[in-house]
Amino acid sequence: MFHSARIKLTAWYLLILMSISILFSVAIYNGAKSELVRSLHAQQFRLYYFDNPELIPAPPHISQLQIDPELLSDEENRIKLALILLNLGIFVLAGGAGYFLAGRTLKPIQVMVDEQNRFITDASHELRTPLTALRAEIEVNLRAKDLSVEETKKLLQSNLEEVINLQSLSDNLLQLTQLEKSKGQNIFTQVSVSQVIEEAVKKISSEAKKKEITIRSEVKNYQVLGEKNSLLQLMIILLDNAVKYSNNNTLIKVTAEKIDHKISLKVADQGIGINTKDLPHIFERFYRADSSRTKQEISGYGLGLSIAKKIVTLHSGIISVKSNSKGTTFNVLLPILPKQ
Ligand code: ADP
Repeated sequence: MFHSARIKLTAWYLLILMSISILFSVAIYNGAKSELVRSLHAQQFRLYYFDNPELIPAPPHISQLQIDPELLSDEENRIKLALILLNLGIFVLAGGAGYFLAGRTLKPIQVMVDEQNRFITDASHELRTPLTALRAEIEVNLRAKDLSVEETKKLLQSNLEEVINLQSLSDNLLQLTQLEKSKGQNIFTQVSVSQVIEEAVKKISSEAKKKEITIRSEVKNYQVLGEKNSLLQLMIILLDNAVKYSNNNTLIKVTAEKIDHKISLKVADQGIGINTKDLPHIFERFYRADSSRTKQEISGYGLGLSIAKKIVTLHSGIISVKSNSKGTTFNVLLPILPKQ
C-alpha cells in the first residue's frame, strides 16, 4: 500500500517539477533562438562591412542581411539538444529526490497506521480470550439438562465477573485512544497534589482493606498545572497496582516532595516486585509480567501503566520504576508551579 502511494507521490512531484522545467526550457529556447538570430545578423553585418567598405556610412539594415539557414538550423538543434539533455538530467535527479522525499513524507503516516493496526490486533486478541471463555461456559451449561438454581446462580456470577472485566478492558481501551487524541488539547488548571492523592487513596481503600494493606501518605500541599481527572486516574492506577501486587498485611507509602523544579510523587509497595527482564516493558500496551502467579491469579490486561505513562507524558513529566524482590517504587516527576 505504502509503496504504491510512494510511487504516486513521486509521480506527482515529477509532474510538477517537469512541468516547471519544460516551461522554463521553452522560454530559454525562444530567448536563445532570438539571441542567436541577432548575433548571426551582427556577424553578417561585420562581414558585409569588411567586404564593402565603400558603402560606409550607409550599410543596409542589419535584418536585411541573409543568414546561412543551415548554420541557423545547426545552432537551433544544438540548443534543443542541450535543453533536452538538461531536462533528462532533471528528470533523473528529480525522480530520485522525489522518491526519497515521498518516502520521508509518508513515513510518519506509515508509523501511525502500523501503530493503529497493532492496536486493533492487540485489542481484538485481548477481547477474544474472555469472550471465548464466556461463550464456552454458557454453551456447556446450556447443554446440561438438570441445572440446579444454585449452579445457575454460580454460572451467572461467573459470567458477570467476565462482563465486568470486559467492561473495564473496553473502558481502558477507550481511555487510551482518548488520551492519544487529546494530545496538546487539554485544558490545564491548578491542581492540588495532596487532594488528588487523598481522593485516590479513598477510592482504593476498600480493596486495600480486603488485604489488610495500610496506605500511608506523607504529602505537602504542592500545586501542579494539569488535568485533575487524569492525575487522579494516574494515582489510582499506581495505587491499584500496588495493592494488587502486594501480599496481605503490607504497607504502601505515598510521598510527594519537591526536587529542583519538579514534584516527585512516589508510590512504594512491599509487594512481589518486578523481574529485571520485565522492567523495560511494563509501560508497553498489553504487557503483563510473565510470572505465572501474576498472570493467572491477578486480574488485569496490561493497560494500566501504558495509560499512566500517557497521562504523565501529557503533563510533560517522567515516570520511572525501581523494583526488587522486596517491593516496587514508581516515581512520577511533574513540573511544579513556580513560587512554591
Ligand atoms: P495490569 O492490568 O496487568 O496490572 P499494568 O499495565 O498496570 O497492567 O501493569 C503491567 C505489569 O506490570 C503488570 O502485569 C505487573 O506484572 C507489573 N506491575 C505493575 N505494577 C506493579 C507493582 N506495583 N508490583 C509488581 N508488579 C507490578
